[in-house]
Amino acid sequence: MDLTQPAKPSIPGAIPAPACGKCGGQMNEGFVLDNSYGTTSVSNWIAGKPEYGVLGNVKTAHKKQMPVHTFACRECGYLESYIRPEAGPKASPR
Ligand SMILES: [Zn+2]
Repeated sequence: MDLTQPAKPSIPGAIPAPACGKCGGQMNEGFVLDNSYGTTSVSNWIAGKPEYGVLGNVKTAHKKQMPVHTFACRECGYLESYIRPEAGPKASPR
């Protein structure tokens, strides 16, 4: 886990790194990687409880997905996540 970089937002319009809600330490910007079937992406948040198809996959069709932006505390490792559309792959520059 690389928490050695200075805490500064790299995404335009992103909120500044908050102080850790557990220990008050400095937090660094990042994201949670969704890595499956040879592809990588940022994890998304979907409203409601998960619904499963006949093959056991979570149904995502017709559901709005919001990219999750996560901060990690440099001191204790606590993670704090926010829904941030600008963190997604189709974000348009402001
Ligand atoms: Zn902390």
